[in-house]
Amino acid sequence: MKKQFKAESKRLLDLMINSIYTNKEIFLRELISNGSDAIDKLHYRSLTDDKIKISRDDFEIRIDVDKENKTLTISDNGIGMTEEELENNLGTIAKSGSLSFKQENEDQADVDIIGQFGVGFYSAFMVSKEIEVLSKSFDSDKAYLWKSSGEDGYTIEQAEKPECGTVITLHLKDDDEDYKYSEYLEEYKLRSIIKKYSDYIRYPIKMQVENSVLKEGSTDEYETVVEDTTLNSMIPIWKKDKKDITDEDYNNFYSDKFYDYEKPMKVIYSKVEGQCSYNTLLFIPSHAPYDFYTKEYEKGLQLYSNGVLIQDKCSELLPDYFNFVKGIVDTPDLSLNISREMLQHDKNLGIIAKSIENKIKNELNNMLKNDREEYKKFFKTFGMQLKFGIYNNYGMDKEKLKDLLMFYSSDKKDLITLHEYVENMKSGQDTIYYANGETVDKIDLLPQVELVKDKGFEILYLTEYMDEFAIQTLMEFEGKKFINVCSKDLNLNTEEENKKLEKFNKEHEDLFKIMKESLGENVKNIRFTNRLKSHPVCLTTEGEISVEMEKVFNAMPTDQKIKAKTILEINREHPIAKKLDELYKNDKDALEKYTKVLYSQARLIEGLSIENPTEISNLICDLISK
Ligand code: ADP
Repeated sequence: MKKQFKAESKRLLDLMINSIYTNKEIFLRELISNGSDAIDKLHYRSLTDDKIKISRDDFEIRIDVDKENKTLTISDNGIGMTEEELENNLGTIAKSGSLSFKQENEDQADVDIIGQFGVGFYSAFMVSKEIEVLSKSFDSDKAYLWKSSGEDGYTIEQAEKPECGTVITLHLKDDDEDYKYSEYLEEYKLRSIIKKYSDYIRYPIKMQVENSVLKEGSTDEYETVVEDTTLNSMIPIWKKDKKDITDEDYNNFYSDKFYDYEKPMKVIYSKVEGQCSYNTLLFIPSHAPYDFYTKEYEKGLQLYSNGVLIQDKCSELLPDYFNFVKGIVDTPDLSLNISREMLQHDKNLGIIAKSIENKIKNELNNMLKNDREEYKKFFKTFGMQLKFGIYNNYGMDKEKLKDLLMFYSSDKKDLITLHEYVENMKSGQDTIYYANGETVDKIDLLPQVELVKDKGFEILYLTEYMDEFAIQTLMEFEGKKFINVCSKDLNLNTEEENKKLEKFNKEHEDLFKIMKESLGENVKNIRFTNRLKSHPVCLTTEGEISVEMEKVFNAMPTDQKIKAKTILEINREHPIAKKLDELYKNDKDALEKYTKVLYSQARLIEGLSIENPTEISNLICDLISK
């Protein structure tokens, strides 16, 4: 009976069958790597289960060609699949993200999706008109044959197969003007694809190959014999000598293992020998994976013990703030006969994790020092993680990460480090100024920013929501405190100026009282200021919570709303100051209206909304029409 593919899978299948993707040869890599995974699984089981009597040396992946029938067969003696697994694994797409991505990018060529997700088994449909999968699971005594020629579904029936494992037979498409599918029956072609993508596979990939050998008893006469030949070197790339690995090897390995179509930004390779020995091969991707900002994203490194894969994403090996790093760790110094829960407490795992963290940190520091443009690119992509690392865990890791931070500078109009800010401080300057906002341009227009810039101070512009949390967790940098240019006490004035202002404010206490009454609970204080140069009003805050933080807190889905303590500041040099004085004397009613308008203006400048826009709009019309 024909069964239909699930709708999602069907679409992906269509995409594969009609693919114009030029790099069709990757199908072989995908099938070999599935075979290798299946062997890994059985191998791992055999290490922890005495009943399994299969030796490491017996594992293999085979490639067989039948030129007459135009079939290419890839087999493995791994764990195999039960009927149910055949149904579930081959009837549905494993990588659920791939299709939703495709939907969002409908107009793009299929190149993206194939390159980006490494769609696995289905890629074989790029070169085949029919595929047969004969499999017997280690956990079952029955074998099954799965068959499909694409669109019209698949069949599964019981079959014969003595040993466990999987045999995949591809009936290659017929050659056409555009593509020579029959090349995949040629030894040289298969050899070169395997060398390119699958050389490091740890199990032999064997094929019957014609070799010339010396005739028995002869010294110069050769004869052709057909013999099993291993096509891959089987040395994992991370076990090779560094000098024998080319950039291309690294890149190929990376894209194969981690399904990334772009080459990594940085490769970190190291071999450590000692009490705890291990090899690591780490990659910093050049862009965030499509699911990086979703809950589905899992951090972790592939953990091998003596070349056997133990865990695909060992999260203990990476701190959260370096969760973007991909890679593998191979160590003989972990006990294999332990459960995953116990592995977490293994002392050696902790040692390795610590050293990996340092390696990544050093690499980033080096990049910052020696390749600033690259580092900026990195920081724009993953900097958020570092900031998150600063304030997470009550700031426990802030010392490690603070030198890696970058913020936009009002002076340089570019990203700078905190150290560069401090180095560049004016003599006598003892604080690091920063301002918050949605974009650099918007911050630049804030009234509070103008005077600070005018006095020649550099300001850091914070545009991401966690920026201020990170800054507040740091509290200070190289002995200099951070101060928000929108906070109450900026201390930009001389003692004398301050005194004068204080006196002036005292004289207007009654005015402020009336103004405050019209605003109710909304503002904590009202006062005149000389921080505003040309602007009439602004909002400043007192205490730890800034307006920007209020916005972040209140965007969270909790009932507890947090309010910044805001102060309405009015430029004492601005004509509006005089006007308020006048109204206080002659028209208290109008004073209340003006106050409401001024307060609303200050809120708008900060990017806050107005509680009652209709009222304010009517008030403004009232005032204009007078
Ligand atoms: P992926 O390998 O990325 O999970 P695939 O579409 O290539 O995606 O394979 C889907 C699943 O089918 C695999 O996760 C695996 O469980 C199973 N599978 C594929 N090939 C084999 C094989 N040769 N032996 C055992 N299981 C296999």
